[in-house]
Amino acid sequence: MSSEKWTVTFQVFRKKAETPGYYDDFKLEVDPDEYVLDGVERVWAFHDRTVTFRHACHHSTCGACGMRVNGVEKLTCITPIREVTHNGGVVRVEPLRNFPVVSDLAVDMGKFYTQMDDVKHAAVTPDVKEAIQPEKRPAGPVSDGLEFPRLSDCIECGLCISACPISASSPDYMGPAVLAGAQQHGISGDAGLLCLVDSEDGAWRCHSAFECSAVCPSFVEPGWRIMDLRRQIVAERIKNMFGGANDKNKPVEVAK
Ligand code: SF4
Repeated sequence: MSSEKWTVTFQVFRKKAETPGYYDDFKLEVDPDEYVLDGVERVWAFHDRTVTFRHACHHSTCGACGMRVNGVEKLTCITPIREVTHNGGVVRVEPLRNFPVVSDLAVDMGKFYTQMDDVKHAAVTPDVKEAIQPEKRPAGPVSDGLEFPRLSDCIECGLCISACPISASSPDYMGPAVLAGAQQHGISGDAGLLCLVDSEDGAWRCHSAFECSAVCPSFVEPGWRIMDLRRQIVAERIKNMFGGANDKNKPVEVAK
């Protein structure tokens, strides 16, 4: 943190139930090295307790505090105010796009979480699950230098879906994070997953805008993963054309 002080205007999107949205302005004195989420919390704590927003871990692991900040998707707990405005400037905070707004800055991510389950995305990698069992935890720090291993890379923040132009125009499109989850899991030999992603609203709907990769705070590169998923789909189709390697296609052994 610096000893510098800036006066900035937080322009907060407000919307309750079916009412039309509007913006409320709050003037704040901030340290420019504070994060945008700190500013939103200060608005709530000292100006208006009815402002609704999602937040939890404050260190880019839970993915809860995603918002649009001056028109760009950001994880607000790791976005310094200095990065998005200047002294005397405006910080406009809005809810993520392409999700239903529940209240003000909070969106409903229920459908997205269900889709992540559908493609078998593991929020915690199996070896992390092993490692965090006290009796199985290694004595020293694990290989990435952290005392405790962090979650696998996609934090399910939804920023990529908000930034995706196809999600905006095709509400049934599975979206970047979900398709990236399927790619990470792998579709080889999984007919159900192949059927899900090899569809009109699956991997072929993407128009390669790569806005998803540009905003992802966890370097998942969903755009590139969708391209790789297409490669996996084509490989599966060819494999299946020649008899396939799925268990269901293996020759049945006849008992003698
Ligand atoms: S792929 Fe990246 S931007 Fe999309 S939900 Fe996962 S972490 Fe967030």
